[in-house]
Amino acid sequence: MKSILVVGSVALDTIETPRGKVDEAPGGSAVYFSAAASFFATVNLVGVAGDDFPCERLDILRERGVDLKGFQVVDGGRSFRWHGRYHTDPNQRDTLLTELNVFQDFDPHLPESYRSADLLFLANIDPDLQLQVLDQMEQPELVILDTMNFWIEGRWDALQKVIKRTDILIVNDSEVIQLTGQPNVVTGARMLSGQGPRIVIVKKGEHGALMLTPEGFFFAPAFPLESVCDPTGAGDTFAGGFTGWLATADEIDEQTLRRALINATALASFSVEDFSIQRLETLTLPEIEQRITSLSQMTDYEL
Ligand code: AMP
Repeated sequence: MKSILVVGSVALDTIETPRGKVDEAPGGSAVYFSAAASFFATVNLVGVAGDDFPCERLDILRERGVDLKGFQVVDGGRSFRWHGRYHTDPNQRDTLLTELNVFQDFDPHLPESYRSADLLFLANIDPDLQLQVLDQMEQPELVILDTMNFWIEGRWDALQKVIKRTDILIVNDSEVIQLTGQPNVVTGARMLSGQGPRIVIVKKGEHGALMLTPEGFFFAPAFPLESVCDPTGAGDTFAGGFTGWLATADEIDEQTLRRALINATALASFSVEDFSIQRLETLTLPEIEQRITSLSQMTDYEL
């Protein structure tokens, strides 16, 4: 079993969707990622919050074996806050607020035991922090990267440096356009793979995910859901399901990557069924396995 290190945001999210609203609920890229990946492997988390963060909500991560030695709580500090409002089309959202707060002065120092992690997931966070973490690692087998519009717009140069040092890049279709200027995701994925990453995954929300590997393209349709409650964190949960599966494999070959993409798809589909991390808190391994079986049945046909 391989170990995973994640650096990302630990957040208080205010979320409005056509199904309702939650105020200052626990979220952040590192939290969603760990909640998903910890079903499959040991996750070491690097992140920061203020003392206004309800740390007891991370108990579910501890119970699933997530190592929180690298999680700092700043006395008197204010946690990262994000406020998003979704349109009727769940792929469309407006960001109403991004408050970095304790992330502004965050200087991540990896505990010694974290430096030898096999898989490094650089979750959505300031690319300068991603670089700082990358520089402290011994020699991870794989570096997997996620980002978002906020950092593409605000930290272009640092982000380009991280992309060059990445093995697997996970982005969504609008980020492909922002990064390459290319509206065609197939062409965009090829362009991104020329910038460093051997593997590029493009998420297309309810339209599934496309993966470009040295062997070509593989496509995973999204699990068909009748109702989406809250799409927040679906991308991070997807990445957690993907990286978690890779951690279970001795060899990361084409078949492992494909199976990991299906795992990612299944995990993300649960995350959107309730607000914040609520569905991930109650989720069980048998439910995940059942959904993967359903996905397989839904895409099975004779040639
Ligand atoms: P996703 O829906 O996958 O894009 O992830 C949303 C999560 O990312 C929320 O829990 C937010 O707290 C967090 N988030 C939003 N904006 C940022 C940002 N600029 N940097 C880091 N994390 C963010």
